[in-house]
Amino acid sequence: MSWLIGEDPTPEAVITRVMRAIRQVLSEANVTLDQAAGIGLGVPGPVNRDSGIVFSPPNLPGWDEVPLYDMLHEEFKIPIFIENDANAAALAEYIFGMGRGYREVVCMTIGTGIGSGVIIDGKLLEGVAGMAAELGHMTIDWQGDLCNCGHVGCLETFASGTAIASRASMLILGGMAEGLREFALEHRLHEERVPFYVDARTVALAADAGLPVAREIIIRAGEALGMGLVNVIHIFNPQIIILGGSVVQIGDLFMEPARRVVEERAMKVLREAVRIVTAQLGPDVGLIGAGALVYYYRQ
Ligand SMILES: [Zn+2]
Repeated sequence: MSWLIGEDPTPEAVITRVMRAIRQVLSEANVTLDQAAGIGLGVPGPVNRDSGIVFSPPNLPGWDEVPLYDMLHEEFKIPIFIENDANAAALAEYIFGMGRGYREVVCMTIGTGIGSGVIIDGKLLEGVAGMAAELGHMTIDWQGDLCNCGHVGCLETFASGTAIASRASMLILGGMAEGLREFALEHRLHEERVPFYVDARTVALAADAGLPVAREIIIRAGEALGMGLVNVIHIFNPQIIILGGSVVQIGDLFMEPARRVVEERAMKVLREAVRIVTAQLGPDVGLIGAGALVYYYRQ
């Protein structure tokens, strides 16, 4: 649903666009409503799967206890499945991607934030409020920096794209990453401004060009991810951990430190039982996940 939020994020405007998109997809596919098995929606925030009520997603101002299921069901009158988008993405990898054939699967998407979903014995772990496995908000440092969730020291404050960008910008502000500032200006990635800040993509490009401070920032983020993975491995004893998202695309410079920390710190039996792989489905994983919901819940 994220791609349908657009400029006006109020529930009425977004839901109108969602309904229009559903009708358009049906018409383009030459399928009538009664031929469709159902409608799947991935929502960027907390949602109660049973009631289909969406609770105040951080990126959707004005949304507070929106009865999304009721509104859509009244319009379309076919089965509708609504899930947190990170859980939907995990189902997509489980059913159609790298998780095929496994029963114990952890999926993490590392981009602007860190989303995750966990499959236990072939079933999506939901929790009482449908919010289980918020792995991006596990504590890595209980005295760490403030996170968007209101807590401190979460994995997301160390290993996400936002974390990489904010550490780089802090170092520039403190006069400790002048080379990175010059790289950004030289390659016209950012305008000169005060305070000067950079994004994760710039840090990745500078690291790729061999700039030591940029490499250190990426390596530190990778090590923090490794700490998070050790916790995940110890809690869930998964067969496979699937990592996707733009930060994972940085490649070995980010992933090798993560693997090294797992190698050094995870218990041997659990470590030897798990494969850590990169996701297969790419940027459309959320859309595939919305479709996967119908497939998963109608089996
Ligand atoms: Zn947090």
